[in-house]
Amino acid sequence: MGLDGNVIIVATRNQGKVREFAHALGFLNKSVKSMYDFPDVPEVIEDGETFADNARKKAKEVGDRLGQPVLADDSGLCVDQLDGEPGVYSARYAGEAASDEANNEKLLKALERIQQGEDTDQPLLSTARFVCHLALYDPATDQFIEAEGSVDGWITAERAGSGGFGYDPLFYLPEYEKTMAELSIAEKQAISHRGAALRQLAEKLEQRSR
Ligand code: IMP
Repeated sequence: MGLDGNVIIVATRNQGKVREFAHALGFLNKSVKSMYDFPDVPEVIEDGETFADNARKKAKEVGDRLGQPVLADDSGLCVDQLDGEPGVYSARYAGEAASDEANNEKLLKALERIQQGEDTDQPLLSTARFVCHLALYDPATDQFIEAEGSVDGWITAERAGSGGFGYDPLFYLPEYEKTMAELSIAEKQAISHRGAALRQLAEKLEQRSR
């Protein structure tokens, strides 16, 4: 099993993820198909307790349905001051089908509530990390190949940038003095949880093909 064909099917309807996969896999001369290309495939219910559970579930349900290898990404933001929340609930933190803006607003409110009374003007509210778990599933062998990546940063009270998606405008990287949303897609790929997981997955696939 591998990413042998020219087309990789990714089990997502998240436009931000589709853009990042298309960018990363474009370098390997592969094009990406997403669930927008397979509108009949039902939404997978993400009821796992971990990113790994959900990634495997998405890859297997879609892979079995299409009869082809499928790559799934389950990812999210874990904020230390919120005991790791929103975690696996990142996409629907402010409710089912919540907008990125609504999720960001809820996150800032939750942190402001906790820090009320603390005499600090500094805009950095909590350490946090993005995590991405990738599962590549092949229905022909019923096997998975998996990888996980993460990136550490801070949640800032001052949104900045218009790139990326999700919580990127609130995720501050001190070494760049920028939020994730202020990076170009190539810069984000080089340091992001998704970029790290993709590189690890590519390495595993290469090892297997040797
Ligand atoms: P999933 O589709 O269940 O994996 O949900 C992922 C959610 O986590 C997204 O909707 C975002 O809210 C958040 N997320 C994951 N990766 C990123 C990222 O690279 N930048 C910003 N937010 C992200």
